[in-house]
Amino acid sequence: MTPKERFIKAMRFKKVDRPPVLSPNQTATVEQMDSLGIYFPDAYSDAQKMAALASAAWEQVGLEGISLPFCQTVEAEVFGLEVKWGRRKTDIPEAPFRGYSTPDGVEVPENFLEQGRIPVVLEAIEILKERYGDEVPIMGHVIGPFSLAAHLANMEKILRLSIKNPTLVKEFTNLGLEAIAEYANAMLERGADAIVIENMFASVDIMGVKGYVNFAQPFDRELVRNIRGPTILHICGDGTRIIEEMLATGASCLSIDSKTDARRAVSASRGRAAIMGNIDTVYALAFGTPDEVVAETRRSIEAGIDIIAPGCAISPLTPNRNLRAMVETVKSLGHETDG
Ligand SMILES: [Zn+2]
Repeated sequence: MTPKERFIKAMRFKKVDRPPVLSPNQTATVEQMDSLGIYFPDAYSDAQKMAALASAAWEQVGLEGISLPFCQTVEAEVFGLEVKWGRRKTDIPEAPFRGYSTPDGVEVPENFLEQGRIPVVLEAIEILKERYGDEVPIMGHVIGPFSLAAHLANMEKILRLSIKNPTLVKEFTNLGLEAIAEYANAMLERGADAIVIENMFASVDIMGVKGYVNFAQPFDRELVRNIRGPTILHICGDGTRIIEEMLATGASCLSIDSKTDARRAVSASRGRAAIMGNIDTVYALAFGTPDEVVAETRRSIEAGIDIIAPGCAISPLTPNRNLRAMVETVKSLGHETDG
């Protein structure tokens, strides 16, 4: 079975020989960048370089999927935010919150697919499809509508508005919906096998359960409905109390953080969505020993998770040896459980 066949089956909760092991979020690390001689921002201006850095996850580590791009600033930049490239060329770029006061102040860009770094991402997907398309699944990342709104309006203000003027929050969140769906569908047309909706600011740790339910979930659901292919919904933080709401978006797969109760997510989701995650990215993958990664991976396998993966984006400081320990553990132990 190729990694792609295994991934497609696991996404549809069909029986597989063992769970796939991959990362739905960014995978680039300092070690990979040093070995390739490819750094930021070059990895964002040249599709060949972007494809090469993204494929290091498979080539160097054995992760059974290739996912790109490496940050959540691509859409925000097209919506007029300035991107801050880090001090070091291995730092993941950020788009500091702009603080638009009303949605009317935001210009929704025309010809979205031709703007900013979007053409580079789409071309990189095409290159990867050509190179690995039969063997390894390719996942394209888009930002969740609420997280884009948080970038546009400023997170603190969104939190205040969610109490004082909820309608305005919804208007902000609605702004990006159409453009994000268009971008996701273009990724699928160029060869992506699934779309990862990265909704980091919709975390319950920030917004609370009600905040997610009122301000993020309806837009996630609408986005899923408008994407013409498999979707993976990623929300940071402890998602235990919003699993039902995440399932109700209709996403094909839920990517859960290490704080989320994996067993509860698995038992709640049966037959409705695949569960992906939820290996700790900080204490285990970035700063733990390979033995700690093995133990953490074993925990996720035993919880019955369908697709074993880091619980969030991989830190650039993560050593390849820890990622390999995760991959090898799934390959050796994954057969024992009935994923
Ligand atoms: Zn996350």
